[in-house]
Amino acid sequence: MTKSNLPENRLENRFPEKEPLLTKREATVEANRCLYCVDAPCIDSCPTSIDIPEFIRRIATENREGSAKTILESNILGYSCAQVCPTEVLCESTCVFNEMDEEPIRIGELQRYATEPAIENDVQFFEAGEPTGKRVALIGAGPASLSCAHRLRRYGHETTIFEAKSYPGGLNTDGVAPYKLHAHQSLKEIDYVRQIGGIDIEYNTAVGKDVTLEELEEDFDAIFIGAGLGPDNWLDIPGTDLDGVWGAVDLIAKMKVEEGYELPDDVHTACVVGGGNTAIDVVRELRGLGVDDVMLVYRRDEASMSGYEHEWEGAKKEGARGVWFSQPVEIVGDDHARALRCRKMRPASDDPDDRSLELVDGSDFDIDCDLVVVAIGQSKLGDLFADVDGVELDWGKIVIDAETGRTGNTKYFAGGDCVSGGKEVVDAVEEGKVAARSIHALLTDDAEASADEESTETAPSPVT
Ligand SMILES: Cc1cc2nc3c(=O)[nH]c(=O)nc-3n(C[C@H](O)[C@H](O)[C@H](O)COP(=O)(O)OP(=O)(O)OC[C@H]3O[C@@H](n4cnc5c(N)ncnc54)[C@H](O)[C@@H]3O)c2cc1C
Ligand code: SF4
Repeated sequence: MTKSNLPENRLENRFPEKEPLLTKREATVEANRCLYCVDAPCIDSCPTSIDIPEFIRRIATENREGSAKTILESNILGYSCAQVCPTEVLCESTCVFNEMDEEPIRIGELQRYATEPAIENDVQFFEAGEPTGKRVALIGAGPASLSCAHRLRRYGHETTIFEAKSYPGGLNTDGVAPYKLHAHQSLKEIDYVRQIGGIDIEYNTAVGKDVTLEELEEDFDAIFIGAGLGPDNWLDIPGTDLDGVWGAVDLIAKMKVEEGYELPDDVHTACVVGGGNTAIDVVRELRGLGVDDVMLVYRRDEASMSGYEHEWEGAKKEGARGVWFSQPVEIVGDDHARALRCRKMRPASDDPDDRSLELVDGSDFDIDCDLVVVAIGQSKLGDLFADVDGVELDWGKIVIDAETGRTGNTKYFAGGDCVSGGKEVVDAVEEGKVAARSIHALLTDDAEASADEESTETAPSPVT
């Protein structure tokens, strides 16, 4: 599936954009607020180290294309990152204006202003390097592999991505909330990334099933693992097999990419189990689709949620509510979920450092609902690599050297969620980039390449 054959009638199309694109005047005014700090702390808080003052300066001097080039040099998925990055806790969080009690520079919105026309009009800044004859296999077509593959093409290596699904982009296409990024925007960006040429994608090809690791080892000079995470974790309680019980990532993917998918008409009350960002996203999505009463059911209190505070505040403004210190013990229904039965929890001791909880006997209560969404994380896919010599696993996550993306097997590199256990798109992009540098060093015996962060000697210069 590409942008051209993505179904039109997708549920996510009901969501308007969170922020419309800045006008030229708004962008110029905002860019001119920037102080262009010499030691720009915002650069350090961007995982891909985009030269933020430079790209903003280029907007201020009406060099929009130059601005896009600065961004994409560091982050080839800079267009989607502009919309999906939690800027409140990344680049914008360290803007010096925060210390002056003023609004930080709207870096994400300026980044989108710069990159959107380049992506939409296919303005290319990079070209493939001289062919090296080396071949790299990449597992999964998510942000980590796409970033890695693009960088490898700039070095001149051949790349083939093996993707289990029928479309690319991983969670950037079928996971991030539609009010941040629509699937067609992600697919358009991937078309753009692939215009460098030579990023082949084999769809519907699950590594470990349709092609084995041994085959990849034989056919390729290096392997990058960007397989992300597995299916939704599941609650081990009675009733999870009833209709109306969904895993969060599964449900979101249906909303985002499935043709004609609709929530059943009789869904009026929903319980979303979890306290992380995915749980909050689902809550906001269900409210956005008109579900009357949406509750986030969490076993701790509001302050202990792992999801971003700004996102939860947004959800509450949209009418969501929280049910705290509540542990689901059963989903009650006939053939369809009708209620979520919970038991109250409480801290096990008065020690504020002790986070353990205990169930309160006899405190069961039912929350009537027509839909239960389980948002308690995703499983790890590490098992697939358990037999690969030298590849170490830590609770299902692939262990790498963070400076190089290398695993304990010289042929295997990894990055993204399969390593971190779940972070942001921008982290996956950075880890793909880092691994590409090390793969290049391996394939060319160039130790300098992996040591030098942004070596333009090893990555061919952008087209000017
Ligand atoms: C619901 C949700 C919302 C999110 N919202 C945001 C957000 O707003 N902002 C943000 O920055 N981040 C967000 N994230 C996190 C972000 O999407 C991930 O960090 C990022 O996509 C990770 O990239 P990746 O390439 O490592 O993995 P993925 O994006 O998961 O891509 C992995 C790819 O590998 C494929 N694959 C897996 N196993 C195999 C196999 N054996 N063979 C072949 N292919 C395989 C998968 O099908 C998938 O396409 C969200 C995550 C979730 C779950
Ligand atoms: S990529 Fe994300 S974190 Fe980095 S500058 Fe852009 S919006 Fe900020």
